[in-house]
Amino acid sequence: MLNEVSVCKIFTFDAAHQLIGHKGKCSNLHGHTYKLEVVLKGVPVTEPGHSDEGFVIDFGDIKALVRQSLVDRLDHAFLAKGDEPVLETLQSSGSKVALLSFRTTVENMAAYIAYKLKQAALPLYSVKLWETPTSWAEVLAADVPADGPSYRLHGGCDCE
Ligand SMILES: [Zn+2]
Repeated sequence: MLNEVSVCKIFTFDAAHQLIGHKGKCSNLHGHTYKLEVVLKGVPVTEPGHSDEGFVIDFGDIKALVRQSLVDRLDHAFLAKGDEPVLETLQSSGSKVALLSFRTTVENMAAYIAYKLKQAALPLYSVKLWETPTSWAEVLAADVPADGPSYRLHGGCDCE
């Protein structure tokens, strides 16, 4: 009997954001090439002859699920809390916006991504989100409350 195995799929997406009220240069509108590491953990399928025999989950299935539930929405978007002065201009000009209702720090983004992937019923262990080549935030699936990260409990919008 095999024990649990961790597998990881890496995604990248480009996005812009602006941290209103930040004391440093992140208060400017700017962008990142984010790198997302999705770690899943489970016991590989043992059923002989099954398409997924020996897999925790097929990498192709991970790719499709993560793209569908997250990356397609965030890639080349403006990641908005909702208080950015530029938001109205972007929306009225048809530019892509992901209205998230929380301050778009890498910590909050990682928590949001972990929550969304748990909702997508993936056997999630953790997500690590790189905002720059030297900065990342990591959230363990076990640390994500069932009803979502705490910032969603304080009157955020339901813009999903
Ligand atoms: Zn930034």
